[in-house]
Order: sequence, then C-alpha cells, then structure tokens
Amino acid sequence: MGFLSNLFGGGNNTPAASGPHIDTSGIKIHPSVDNGVRPGSDSFTGGTIQCNCATDKVEVTIGAQTAHNHICGCTKCWKPEGADFSQIAVVGRDHVSVTAHPEKLHIVDESAAIQRHACKTCGAHMYGRIESTDHPFHGLDFVHTELSDQSGWSSAEFAAFVSSAIEGGVSPDKMDKVRARLKELGLEPYDALSPPLMDAIATATAKAKGVLA
Ligand SMILES: [Zn+2]
Ligand SMILES: [Zn+2]
Repeated sequence: MGFLSNLFGGGNNTPAASGPHIDTSGIKIHPSVDNGVRPGSDSFTGGTIQCNCATDKVEVTIGAQTAHNHICGCTKCWKPEGADFSQIAVVGRDHVSVTAHPEKLHIVDESAAIQRHACKTCGAHMYGRIESTDHPFHGLDFVHTELSDQSGWSSAEFAAFVSSAIEGGVSPDKMDKVRARLKELGLEPYDALSPPLMDAIATATAKAKGVLA
C-alpha cells in the first residue's frame, strides 16, 4: 500500500485509485460519445455542417480542423433531442462561413458573450461567435461537428461545466454516475473548462490588468 492510502486510512487490498465501483449502465451523455469516443484524423482539414431541417438546410463551411472539442453541461449550448450534454469544438472565425440559407439564421441571445447563430426553423446552433475583442476567446467560433456528414473532426477530449447539467434538469442524485461514465469514456469531468482553457482565460485577464507582460 502506498503512502497516500495509508494517510487516508487505507489498509486493505483495495487499489488506492479506483474507489467504489459505480454502475454506469444506462447513463447517456451525448449520442456522439455514448458508444465510445471516436478519434479525430490528423489529416482532416475541415468540411461542412448542416442544420436539422429536412429541406433548405442551413450549411456552414468550416475550412479547418477543430480544436478543444468537448462535452458541455451548460444550459446555453445547443443539445440534440433528449441529450443531457452538448458537444462543442472551437475553430478560428476566419475559417467559418455560411454557404447555404443564411436567411434562416438568427442570434439566440444578442446579450450573451457568445452569439449563437441558430436555425430559426429547426433550432440547431450553427456557430457561436464572440464579437467582443476584449474576450479571451475572441477570434474563435464554437461549432457542433456532430452536424457534419464527414468524419475526422477532432475528438472530444474532456467534459466542461458538468455540474451545470443539474440546471438543465439532470437529477443531482445521478451526478456520481454521470461523472463515472465520463471518466470511463476518457472524458475528464470538470465543473468549469479544462485547466489549459482556464489558464488561457486567466492569462488574458492577467495581461489585461498588467500583472503579466
Ligand atoms: Zn434548420
Ligand atoms: Zn456549453
């Protein structure tokens, strides 16, 4: 037994790191990861996403591979029918253009930091854009690559704002299982963004305040 398990009262033969087994059967996160996280392709250079309308689909062309793809539990991100979490990635805004039916788009909440451009008919969010140049993530658009027919988009890497799923209607009693399932899938659950993204925000804030050069 290691030092830590002794420190915390361990002493039997239970492996220190595994904790109690949690049955995660029946726990659904998001259709694109529920059967396992598909790896992205290093040679993938972008594609198109379409809204969920049967006809006259809004199409957005994304001319680059995405990054920081993650599962999100916040109440603002668009989720497919029945899902408790969304899946969202970022890409440079210069690579994002509306290539069909721009007239069907509207901004969900003009006052939000991320302006989510959604289809008025089916409700799918096509891209989220930050207009404030003071925002740490200005220059990055948020996109749901599950709306694409192509495969090879960067894979989900972690889960953000997991506790916020409760605000979306998930029972607090279910959260241990939700977190256990995310870990099973290799998607480390965080209650904010991942440490690299939180560090990026703090770095931008520190520079704006003059704390960092
Ligand atoms: Zn639509
Ligand atoms: Zn979100």
